Amino acid sequence: MAELKLDDIVSLCKRRGFIYQGSDIYGGLAGTWDYGPLGVQLKRNIMQLWWKMFVDSRDDMYGVDAAILMNQKVWQASGHVDTFTDPLVECSNCHGRFRADKLEDANKCPTCGKTGTFGEARAFNMMFKTNVGPVEDENSISYLRPETAQGIFTNFKNVVDSLYPDVPFGIAQQGKAFRNEISPRDFVFRSREFEQMEIEYFIHPDSWEAEFDKWVTQCKEWFAALGLPADKIHELDVPAEDRAHYSKRTIDFEFDYPIGREEMMGLAYRTDFDLGNIQRVSGKNMEYRPKDGSTPFVPHVIEPSFGVERAVMAVLCSAYWNDTANERIVLKLPYELAPIKVAVCPLAKNNPELVTKARAVYASLKREIGSVVWIDSGNIGKNYRKMDEIGVPYVVTVDFDTLEGDTKDTVTVRSRDTTTQTRSKIINLIALLSCA
Ligand code: ATP
Repeated sequence: MAELKLDDIVSLCKRRGFIYQGSDIYGGLAGTWDYGPLGVQLKRNIMQLWWKMFVDSRDDMYGVDAAILMNQKVWQASGHVDTFTDPLVECSNCHGRFRADKLEDANKCPTCGKTGTFGEARAFNMMFKTNVGPVEDENSISYLRPETAQGIFTNFKNVVDSLYPDVPFGIAQQGKAFRNEISPRDFVFRSREFEQMEIEYFIHPDSWEAEFDKWVTQCKEWFAALGLPADKIHELDVPAEDRAHYSKRTIDFEFDYPIGREEMMGLAYRTDFDLGNIQRVSGKNMEYRPKDGSTPFVPHVIEPSFGVERAVMAVLCSAYWNDTANERIVLKLPYELAPIKVAVCPLAKNNPELVTKARAVYASLKREIGSVVWIDSGNIGKNYRKMDEIGVPYVVTVDFDTLEGDTKDTVTVRSRDTTTQTRSKIINLIALLSCA
């Protein structure tokens, strides 16, 4: 297959209703993206699968959904107000602004091509600032959260007080995060508004290495569930000089995107940095009292931080298949992630008996499976191709054989991945189609 380009993904996403440029109708707003009917479903399926895997199916995990706007003390205590910055340079010729550490040539402006026009880099804080309430002063300052993690840390004591879980345990959260990226780029990969799925896993400090290793394995299980090929995922053990100051170990899981090998998610050992800060600034005790009466301690934390957009992009890139032999583009999405699971198609839309039968099949599948669509325009071959391109695993066709003879009440089920067609009894359809 020819090498996949980012443009292949971007144009399919726009054409078929997965992802559009944000505010497109007014010329767009850089770094923002809108999910269309298929995209929102794909994104939700990814997020639901994550919740199922890391929260619902476990005994040691608790969910929260914290407010996006938080007291400014949260961001002072966490260090974000002082240090959540990227290095910014400005070209004195064209006044273009760039992130200094991402420039291809540190001395050459990528917009006007002039060299030696950058001054000293300055620290640019990436948090979106706002004021809460009608008075705009220092006390009303708040920020759109740049990570979901702090909403977890600030609720640690609440969760312990209400549920008293045994350590180790985790608190999970999904939701929007905002970063005023200097140069948003590469489709949804670097956006200004995006979504994260984060876990703070609270542990005894003595066990951090073993717990960290377990999380490496669990991250890999997650990638497999997304259908990402293992040979496209790489672990970068981030060297001490590149790690966040609070981290004693960080692994960036990188993915071979069409834009190159880039960070898909991060796994960090954050020590007791965050709970320690909260304890210092709020004056509230963050110690955990073990139920066996042993010495209380401030838990340490392992943090797997998953970016939804980067997962969506990795899923789309892995699923995209230019099947030249059959002249079709296919999204080979895992069944659980496919936005639409089944399409139902009457072979002739002007035959009332056939259409009535097909409508009944459609209604029962829709009731049981949910994400089922009806297609009756165009010829059957074109319909198959349309469904392949948006990743529909099965197309059920109701034809004249459905109506009479030995084949009465049977339909054809066509598989997206193999293009094979099998005949199935209508009563067996739900069992056949509601799994991978
Ligand atoms: P990068 O180095 O690429 O800027 P980061 O190390 O700052 O990323 P983290 O702060 O570790 O990222 O955030 C955790 C995860 O959130 C990232 O691994 C990524 O999946 C996601 N993420 C971070 N920034 C963005 C962004 N601007 N757009 C989309 N996803 C993002």
